[in-house]
Amino acid sequence: MAANRRLNSTIKNSLNLERTCLECNTEIRGRVDKKFCSDYCRNAYNNKLNKDSKNLVRNINNRLRKNYRILDSFHLKEGKTRTTKTRLLDKGFDFEFITSLYTTKKGTTYFFLYDLGYLPLDNDYYMIVKRE
Ligand SMILES: [Zn+2]
Repeated sequence: MAANRRLNSTIKNSLNLERTCLECNTEIRGRVDKKFCSDYCRNAYNNKLNKDSKNLVRNINNRLRKNYRILDSFHLKEGKTRTTKTRLLDKGFDFEFITSLYTTKKGTTYFFLYDLGYLPLDNDYYMIVKRE
């Protein structure tokens, strides 16, 4: 028995099997590919991962929705209107969040949030447009 234990521990050390649970850091025994000490820890770890990625998507969606509402708050006459950068920023518009780009044949690029877009003009003016 004692010989067996020694042998096991030698094998273990030579294979560098000292592993710890990804969730709670306690030492793991058993299969080489085991990453968690228990089902509880595996579930807890995976739930946290899912929660993080869900939060990321939720936060970006919220930013996009807010930007969209801001563009929608301008009263577009015949599908477009003009405003200033200051006005957009005052409303909380974040220029980093768009859903698509549209470049015309002439090379003008519109930045879109769903069906509402904006086009930077000279002197910090912006044209807000609605896609047909
Ligand atoms: Zn654990």
